[in-house]
This record gives sequence, C-alpha cells and structure tokens, in this order.
Amino acid sequence: MSSRTTIDIGIDLGTTNSAVAVLRGVQTEVIKNNDGDETTPSAIWIDRRDRLFVGRPARERCERDPDNTCAEFKLRMGTAGQDKHFPASGRTLTPEQMSAEVLSALRADVTARLEEQIRAAVITVPAAFDLNACDATRRAAGLAGLEFTRLLQEPAAAAHAYGFQATDENAMWLVYDFGGGTFDAAVIRLRDGEFSVVGHCGDNFLGGKLVDWRIVEELLIPAAVRQVPQLAGLARGNPRWRAAVAALKHAAETAKIRLSRAHTADVDIELVDDTGGRYEFFHELRRADLERLAEPFVTRSVNLCRTALDELGAGTGDIEKVIMVGGQTAMPFLRERLADPRDGLGIPLDFGHDPMTVVARGAAIFAGAQPLPDDWTAPVSEPGAFTLRCEYPRVSPDLDPVVVGRVTAADGTAASGMSVELLNEASDPPWHSGRIALSARGEFTSTLRAEPGRRNTFTVVLTDPTGTRRRLTPDQLTYTVGAVETEPMLTHALGVGLTDNQVRPLVERGARLPVRRTAPLRTTVTVERGASGGLIRIPVLEGERARADRNRTIGRIEVGADRVSRTVPAGSEVRLTVEIDASRLVKVSAFVPLLDEAFETTVNLVGEPAVDHAELLLDVDAERARLAELRTRCGSLPNPVADLLLRRVDDEDLLGELDRAVEAARHAPDEAARAAKCLLDLRLALDAVEDELTWPELVRQAESLLTEVRDLVTAHGSPSDREDLPLYERDIAEAVESRDADLLRRRTERLREHATRVLDRAGVLQPLIFDNLTRYRDRMRHRSRADRLIRDGERARDAGEQEGLRTINIELQSLLPEPPPPPDLTSTVRAS
Ligand code: ADP
Ligand code: MG
Repeated sequence: MSSRTTIDIGIDLGTTNSAVAVLRGVQTEVIKNNDGDETTPSAIWIDRRDRLFVGRPARERCERDPDNTCAEFKLRMGTAGQDKHFPASGRTLTPEQMSAEVLSALRADVTARLEEQIRAAVITVPAAFDLNACDATRRAAGLAGLEFTRLLQEPAAAAHAYGFQATDENAMWLVYDFGGGTFDAAVIRLRDGEFSVVGHCGDNFLGGKLVDWRIVEELLIPAAVRQVPQLAGLARGNPRWRAAVAALKHAAETAKIRLSRAHTADVDIELVDDTGGRYEFFHELRRADLERLAEPFVTRSVNLCRTALDELGAGTGDIEKVIMVGGQTAMPFLRERLADPRDGLGIPLDFGHDPMTVVARGAAIFAGAQPLPDDWTAPVSEPGAFTLRCEYPRVSPDLDPVVVGRVTAADGTAASGMSVELLNEASDPPWHSGRIALSARGEFTSTLRAEPGRRNTFTVVLTDPTGTRRRLTPDQLTYTVGAVETEPMLTHALGVGLTDNQVRPLVERGARLPVRRTAPLRTTVTVERGASGGLIRIPVLEGERARADRNRTIGRIEVGADRVSRTVPAGSEVRLTVEIDASRLVKVSAFVPLLDEAFETTVNLVGEPAVDHAELLLDVDAERARLAELRTRCGSLPNPVADLLLRRVDDEDLLGELDRAVEAARHAPDEAARAAKCLLDLRLALDAVEDELTWPELVRQAESLLTEVRDLVTAHGSPSDREDLPLYERDIAEAVESRDADLLRRRTERLREHATRVLDRAGVLQPLIFDNLTRYRDRMRHRSRADRLIRDGERARDAGEQEGLRTINIELQSLLPEPPPPPDLTSTVRAS
C-alpha cells in the first residue's frame, strides 16, 4: 500500500499511441512497457485461444491479420454501433472496452515499475473530444480498475509539462498537436503561475494516418499495379486485397517516419491476396512526394491555428512560442512550413520535451495536484492515535500557502487543548512553524514556507497539554510550488435543438468549468398520457452553429407518453438543467412543472450512429452541386472575401477529402464518422461562402424593410408601436453588426411580422390582403363561389368590417392552389 495522497499518475490515451508517466517530486518519469518502450500502440489483438494482446504485438499483427486486430478505436468511443467482432475468438468488444484494455496494460506497467496497484489516474482527452467521448473515456477507465479519474485536455497537459516550473513567466503559447488521428491547436495564457487554455480550434479527423493513406492511394497502389499485372484491382476496400492494403498502409507509415531523417525511403514488401498468392513489390519513396501529399493537411492545421488566434483577436506576434506535440511534428516539412512567416505562423517552435510523451508527463504533473478521495487516504484508526485532515492546494505558485487542518481523536471527538507544530527539516535552513494551539474544535491554521524546484514535505507534530508527543496519522503534508491551470474551459457550446432548425443555447463556448445552467423551454407537441407516439423529444447539441443541423447531436431528452401522469399540452414548460464538471462530464435533466410529481429524465449520452451510405452519397452530390453553383456566382459577382473562402476549400481539398472518405466508408463502416465530419466541414465552408455572397443582398433587404416599416408605423401605428420601433431597429443593427446571416434573416422576418401586426391593428391589413387576393381570382377553384366571396368581401371592406373580411380572406386563400405572394405593405403608406 502506498502513502500517496494525490493521484500522481498521468495517462495519455492516444489514438495511435498511449503513454503513462508518474510524478516524483517535480520530475516526471515515463514508465516503460514490457517491450522497453515509452509508448504503447493503442492496438488490440485477440488470438484463437482468446488471449488478448495490447501494444506492439497487436500493432504488428494488424497487417497480417486485420480481422482479429483493431487500432484507432479511441475516436469511436461514445458513438453507438461501433462494436468490433474478432472472429478467431468469437469475441466482440466496444471501442470503450478496447480502450479499457489499453488502460489495463498501462496500469500493469505501472504496477511492474512502482510495485503498486493504482486505482486512480489522470487521463487526457483531445480538446476537441465531444462530450460523449469524455463520458466513454471515464467508463473505460472504470473497466480497467481505475475507479477515480480526472480528465484533462491534451493541450493543457502539454502546457503543464512546459510551464510547471515557470511560475514567473507571463506569456501566451500555442500548443500545436498533430498526432495520428486528431489535430488540436490551443492557445495558453500564463500569468503569475497560473495558466489557462484561452482558445482552441481542432479537428478530430485530421492526423498522420491521413498522410499514410494518401501515400498508399496516390503512390503505392498505382506503382504496385504498374509493376505487377496480377495486382489489378488492388484497392482500398476490396475484400480480396484487405491484407495487402493493410500491409501497404503500414509500409507507408514506416517510410514516412524514415523520411523525417532521410531523403528517400524504400518500400520493399510482399503483398498477399486472399488465395495465398504472393507478389514482391518495391518502390522508392522520395521526400518531395511525401511533402506534396502532406501539404493540404499541414495547410489545414495552419488555418486552424489562425482561426484559434482570430477568435481571440490575437495575432501571431502575441504568441511567444509554439509547443510541438504529437509524432507527426517530427516531419521536417511540417516544421519548416509552420515556422515560415508567410505560409505558416512564423512563431519560434519549441520541442524541448519529446512530442510523443509530453502529454503523459504533463498529465502526471497535473495528477500531482489532484487529491485522492478522502476515504481512500483516511488512515486506519489505531487505538490511541489521532487523525489529521487538511485543506490546502497540493500545488500552487504560492511560496507560502495557507493550510487549514483539523485533528480528531479515534472516537471522532475534537482534539482540543493540544497543539501542533509543522516542520520542514529538509529545507535550508530547516523551517518550523512554531507551536500552534488547536481551537476548541481541534482546528488550526498555518502559513507554510515552501521552496521552489522540489516537492516539500512537512512533518506535523502533535503534543498534548502535558507536553507529551501523541501519535498522528498521517503526520506529513506535501506541497509543490508550481504553475496550475485555472478552471478549464468548455471547448464547444451546448444547446438544444428547436423547431425550424434553430438552437437554444444553454452553455456558451469557453464557459469555465464546472458549470450549471437552467433554461425554460416550451413543448411543441401534446403528449397524451398513455397514448402511443406522443413524445417530448429535445435533441442536445454540441457546437456553436446557428443552424441546428450543423451541430453534433450528443443525446436526446425524451419524455414519452408512458412516463407522464397526465396529458402535457403543447406549449407546456420544460425546465432543462445541464451540469458539466471539470472533467467535462455532462448531466442533463428535464423537469416538467406541470406534472406534480418531480419528473426528471437524464440524457443518455451516446452519439448518433453514422448515417447510411446511400444517404451520404446524396448529401455529397448536393454539396458538390452547391460548390459548382457558388463558383459560378463568384465568377459573375466579384467578391474578394467569398473568393478567399472558396480558395480555402480548394487549398484544403475539402471535396477531394470528402470523396475519399465516402469511398473508404463504403467498405469500412467505421470510416462513416469521418465522412460525416468531412461533409460537415464542406457544408460549413460553403455556408460561409454563401453567406458572404448573399450578405449584401440580405442587408439591403433588411434596411429597405426597416425604412418601409418606419413609414408604416408613422402612418398607422399606435403610440406603443412607435415606442417598440427602436427595439426592432436595434435588433437589425445588431444582426448586421454580427455578420451572422442566419440571425439577420430571422430578425428581418420578425420585423416583417411586427409590421403585419401594426397594419392589422390599424385595420388596413385585411383590405390589403383582400385586394391582393382578388388579383389571383382567375386561378381560384370553384369560380362561382369565388365570385360570391369577392362580392361579399368588397361589401365588408367598404363597410370597414374587419372580422368579416378576415374570414372571407381565409376562405378565398383556400381556393388557391398555393399561397399568393405577400401584398406590398408600403402601398398603404403611399395610398394614405
Ligand atoms: P496520437 O496522439 O494520435 O496517439 P502520436 O502523437 O503518437 O499520435 O503520433 C502518431 C503519428 O505520428 C502517426 O501518424 C505516426 O505515423 C506519426 N509519426 C511518429 N513518428 C514520426 C516521425 N518521426 N516522423 C513523422 N511522423 C511520425
Ligand atoms: Mg496525442
């Protein structure tokens, strides 16, 4: 049993590679695995005899035996329908269970090194990890015997590694993490020994493996087919060539890694088809080829960094250095491009810590500041011994932190009348607090004196009124001077989807965690007790886009008819509460005040399974057509911003990437999530172009409507209408200012509705609608009925009978095959 009081263990559970480190004093040690490596491939292999292997043996097996191995499962955690079947053993594992196996392996490595069974760890997650995946990570840890976990964002971990002992630095850093499967750019601000992630931009589907696949598809497969005619048909996704393609992928990665040092690398392998045919294949890969293929991905990463800076209103000049994280950052081309002031960022790069293990090291440092649960560290009560409980930060930039402690006797009573003294013999000179008398409740407060650069240990001596020293457990405190992260930040906003593709925000992006918010909503359907089908269904969305369908649905709150004690009519209030803790674990609950009994439901945070392939293809075609149309519009209507945005779509090859992802998803269902992500990226990019192109027109419409409404209100409005007008004017001005096209559309619509209400109250709307309708009399069904209605309508209009005319209008409209264009509201001003 160890005497640990803080977690001290940090795990980087990576998409490609994982690592574990322990904090010793102010130094971290990366714990090597059985093979003597500092990183463990996040890969699983289950053999015929149901033995499960993790790490290198599994990774090496992936090519030869793709069916019974699995890698890169981390990103699928928390998404439904992603189970992996291992035919040789007959087992099926979820991505979360596979991650648990990786965690178990790391935990065993810790046991071997420290001779200690750990039950707690800090586990890192990508900053862009969605909330479902965070939840799944914690469950995986539980399965691996890690009962107590704290999740930490990977960039924050890297910042801990670089900033821990830099308590006097005031600066901004950019953490650039290009790994195997994810990319993250995070801006960190350090100030007086505290740092925080102040901005972030990332992509869960951008990583080194995309480069590997490009090498396979663009270079190796064509070369192999040219060299060996029997290889015709060799393609990603063709079941016949599965093992061969997997071997090429592995060879591509090995060659890519070699090209970080050399200028050429040979691919010299044997390709096997499913009938056992064997074919020699040789190809010399050149660095220039690799750079050409990697360029769009590097460009995308640079753009994401720039976006992260833009969103903060910061420039590259504000950033002191770029901290390099992730295996792919070893690539010389990537470093050159990043350091280039024109095509890259032009900020000095820092790779002082190994980019492959810096996240685990930082996690261990953070772990050193996380106390274990109280009941784990509670000493076994020995007869006659006293118990000490203390409250203080385990790590802080403070040289003299304050400790508050309480001493109790074995029977739980306060140890009043006694005194304590704290000493640090190891400090130079030795430090003593002097004797401190305990209060009647057995409490004391003391200011410690700590030395920077190491872990300080203070011994606590308890003395009774007779001057006799008494036994105290524990009788030591540890404290380290170091930088700490202030409250972590929520990377994506959280909201709920409403009708009309709108979003009701609940927690804004960048909110400090933990956070708790409550918001009232109104239901839109009636749920009758017991009736089948009636359902209050509220999608919970992660993302900050104004259009609901551009965000990710991470769960749904459902209140079904079988769960309500009485009918809940449409328009009833539902009070939603969302809570997100510092590890970004979410709880959402709904409360329906109308139902007397306390009624709550908790969302099951499991992401939607990926869409089916046929649907995906249709969506892709629609976006392809939209891109072509936008190009044409851009050509005929010069707009430099839209041009720039379109150029970005090309530079990052978004459509090409989407096509390739969709093609890959045809055969590998687990690629569907990436395809969906690529589709969303393209949609968002095109939304931006479209908004840019339609923006001037939208603004013109909004402003001309505003002019009309001013005239209308002057001519027909009541005093209160005139009072309301500035509110609408401000709404429109605000939307124009925000450059948010969706917002402006909605506000313009609201203004139009307001104008309609003004006219209706003034009694001019119905005649206006009537006159408009009569223009379409030729198109009306039931001619004689229409003629009669129009005659009645003319009479009602001339007599000023508003309500009668309203009914007639409704009837007339129902005779038309489709609603007519709205009447020109301003005609009432010109006429009056
Ligand atoms: P993750 O965070 O996804 O687990 P890592 O940080 O371990 O990823 O990085 C893995 C990626 O880095 C892989 O795509 C691998 O091919 C790439 N990589 C590792 N070493 C090098 C190297 N020396 N040069 C180029 N790429 C490398
Ligand atoms: Mg990583």
